[in-house]
Amino acid sequence: MGINKVMVIGAGQMGSGIAQVFAQAHYNVVLNDLDVEFVQKGMGHISKNLNRQVEKGRMTKEEADVILNRLTPSTQLEDASDVDLVVEAIVENLEVKSKLFSKLDEIVPEHTILATNTSSLPITEIAAVTKRPEKVIGMHFMNPVPVMKLVEIIRGLATTDEVYNSIEQATKSMNKVPVEVNDFPGFVSNRVLMPMINEAIFTVYEGVATPEAVDEVMKLGMNHPMGPLTLADFIGLDTCLYIMETLHVGFGDDKYRPCPLLRKYVKAGWLGKKTGKGFYEYS
Ligand code: NAD
Repeated sequence: MGINKVMVIGAGQMGSGIAQVFAQAHYNVVLNDLDVEFVQKGMGHISKNLNRQVEKGRMTKEEADVILNRLTPSTQLEDASDVDLVVEAIVENLEVKSKLFSKLDEIVPEHTILATNTSSLPITEIAAVTKRPEKVIGMHFMNPVPVMKLVEIIRGLATTDEVYNSIEQATKSMNKVPVEVNDFPGFVSNRVLMPMINEAIFTVYEGVATPEAVDEVMKLGMNHPMGPLTLADFIGLDTCLYIMETLHVGFGDDKYRPCPLLRKYVKAGWLGKKTGKGFYEYS
């Protein structure tokens, strides 16, 4: 069965971007979050992004309006009762995601595919809480979603070829490039990226250099477009910590231990750009 209607759960920085790219690719999209305020924030984010495209002459106002009209805000999980695909983009926590998948499994039709945008958590374990593990899959978008081409696609142990092919096709229909990777903690992207970010935080923690100096070294010396601490602020320090913990527990190897400074910032509520403060300040 084809995919026409999609629910995106979590209207934060990833979920709003995912909803936008699906709507741009002509899918009808329900954008769900826990509270009206969160959904409205996500919708506002999409509207602002599209307006920027109009200002740059990349689309007309009419085209932007058509895309916005394909989006329906929601705070009820029951609105998933007629969707063909769910893409979950809530907090990076296995227990919270598992609870959601178990509920969704009871609500969505039999044919519906349940995808997760998790950055690092085991797809097979998330799938195991449902009665449809063959229809559960990882669909890992990159941030910012409307700009970044890559989508890592991760099969759980039971995911069928049919489900994989549907998700691969949907990814291509959004002008993105799917790359298949296996179900290991952090997949490829965050297994390589996050230890580098964690090590950059250690250099600040140990007084090797300031955040500005660390970022400058990596930008000018390694040709990275953005320094690792700026990137960490952009991703969200809570998400970075969750991913490091998943790597640490998943591999049982202390080389993945999260830096104490990262823990401290998260405990202080310094989550990066989304809270106005992390390694840098944002107005
Ligand atoms: P975020 O904090 O910006 O947004 C999360 C949203 O989920 C919030 O609006 C929150 O209200 C909502 N939410 C939480 N629990 C919910 C529930 N039970 N039902 C409905 N909504 C709920 O986080 P984010 O950065 O968008 O990350 C979301 C997911 O995407 C995480 O799994 C993260 O690991 C993954 N991810 C993040 C990045 C990144 O760069 N930030 C990149 C790739 C993947």
